[in-house]
Amino acid sequence: MKAPATKDMNQIAQDFLSRLKCPHCHNGRLVDSGEATLVCDVCGRAYPVTDGVPDLLPDSAQVSTQTVKTVLSQSKG
Ligand SMILES: [Zn+2]
Repeated sequence: MKAPATKDMNQIAQDFLSRLKCPHCHNGRLVDSGEATLVCDVCGRAYPVTDGVPDLLPDSAQVSTQTVKTVLSQSKG
């Protein structure tokens, strides 16, 4: 266990997120919904984020059509 370097955590998190693939469909990119969830832009599963840590267990995912529509409409802009 390494102690987290809080100073760089946000940057690391951004970099980390940009590389993440959806663990369910292994195809979608995970988009920060801005509401403490990461939403897959392919299958629409939403993964909860707790204290900045994404919970990517497939069992945790919920399909939130409304959130997906919101996120995708923003990401296209
Ligand atoms: Zn997916």
